[in-house]
Amino acid sequence: MNVIWARATASLVLFLVLIGGVTLALGVKVGLAAAVVGLLLHWGFATYQAQRLWRLLDRPAYGTVPSAPGVWGEIYYRLFRFSKRWYQQVRDVEAQHARFIEAIQVSPNGIILLDNEQRIEWCNANAERHFGVDAERDVGQHITHLIRQPDFIHYIGSPREGMDLRMSGMGRKFHKVLSVQVLPYGDHRKVVISQDVTKLERTDSMRRDFVANVSHELKTPLTVLAGFLETVRELPLSEADRARYLGLMEQQSLRMQAIVNDLLVLAHIEGDPKPPGEQRVNVRTLTQHLRDEAMGLSGGKHTIHLDIDPGVGITGAENEIASAFGNLVSNAVRYTPEGGVIDVSWRAEDGYGVFTVTDDGIGIPAEHIPRLTERFYRVDRSRSRGTGGTGLGLAIVKHVLQRHEARLSIRSQVGRGSQFAVHFPRHRTVLLTVTDEEMDDADYPYDAEVSADVAADVAARIGD
Ligand code: ADP
Repeated sequence: MNVIWARATASLVLFLVLIGGVTLALGVKVGLAAAVVGLLLHWGFATYQAQRLWRLLDRPAYGTVPSAPGVWGEIYYRLFRFSKRWYQQVRDVEAQHARFIEAIQVSPNGIILLDNEQRIEWCNANAERHFGVDAERDVGQHITHLIRQPDFIHYIGSPREGMDLRMSGMGRKFHKVLSVQVLPYGDHRKVVISQDVTKLERTDSMRRDFVANVSHELKTPLTVLAGFLETVRELPLSEADRARYLGLMEQQSLRMQAIVNDLLVLAHIEGDPKPPGEQRVNVRTLTQHLRDEAMGLSGGKHTIHLDIDPGVGITGAENEIASAFGNLVSNAVRYTPEGGVIDVSWRAEDGYGVFTVTDDGIGIPAEHIPRLTERFYRVDRSRSRGTGGTGLGLAIVKHVLQRHEARLSIRSQVGRGSQFAVHFPRHRTVLLTVTDEEMDDADYPYDAEVSADVAADVAARIGD
């Protein structure tokens, strides 16, 4: 027997005892009247409490427990306990839901939930960015009214497991490439998951271009070489012709060697995760070697001036810096006609080391300048090849400078010449101790005393 039955039975027994007592004491009539009054009171009380309960269930006020005597008090208390538990559960579910939404929001993917008629139920912020939909305004809209590409409409109609759809021209600025997957779930619902693969696509297409370029660059000399080999083997040639062909073959193999060397340098620099180090590079010694090499390349047909402050050096990887500066100087020779003048200078400007190569050569049309550091980019292919260019020189320069936090600026005028300037950051520009003899020796347009002043000035500005 539960508490309700026990209390109800006890009340009934009490009621019957009272009525029995009244009947015995005051007679049957009075006893009956008391019983009727008692029943009416009970009915009134029960109806009043039932109405209270009704109102409470109709408009639950969490936290308030109506008080009532007896069984009704017990009922209200139990209802209160039940609502408290229920309220806590709702709060837990809401918190869980909020955490879940938060997690989906930080996902790099776009996510759209669709109902069983492909109408938007919910989407995250990345989906808004990817598809240009609005998480509030577009709820309830049919997805194919908002994303109208025929490929998408076809794909969402019959999504295939594991297959994604590439969509280009997406996003608010229409420049994104998306990988989209549609996955069915629940009772005919779908989830659309999008991933921004713009960078991946770009890298992929750069890789494809690169492989095509390398193959092309190597194929040309290889074809020529194979042709010459055949000629030398098949044709009865005079000694002079044979020597000429062998010379041409050597030229082609040297060209291939140069391309492969530059590719290896580039791969090494690009693939090196380590910073370039803190070697103190003596730019004066380095540029003197570069000048000797450039004179060899020029065959004495150019004038090369050095204007080097021997008191200023750089910290970094000497071999990389030598390779970058060497490319700039050799380009100046290669793109400057005979008799031209090339000026190479190195000094500190406001604490920043600046290496400049200026030529009075053929110059570069302005529209090509932004693309010069791309691999295999050339303004004039035949001229580049004719002078032994691989098309990789400035790409190497760019990567070396990136690793040294340096910047390249290019100025040029067609027919008048070009200037390539490398600006090193202050923290890589250092002062070197220079002896008077070194100053005398230097390719620097000041005498030792003035140089010392300039060095002091530079030291003050660099704060070294
Ligand atoms: P390349 O091996 O073809 O010289 P680079 O990467 O060194 O390759 O240079 C890219 C292109 O930039 C060259 O093909 C050339 O057209 C142009 N270029 C570079 N330096 C100069 C310069 N000093 N004067 C004129 N054009 C230049």
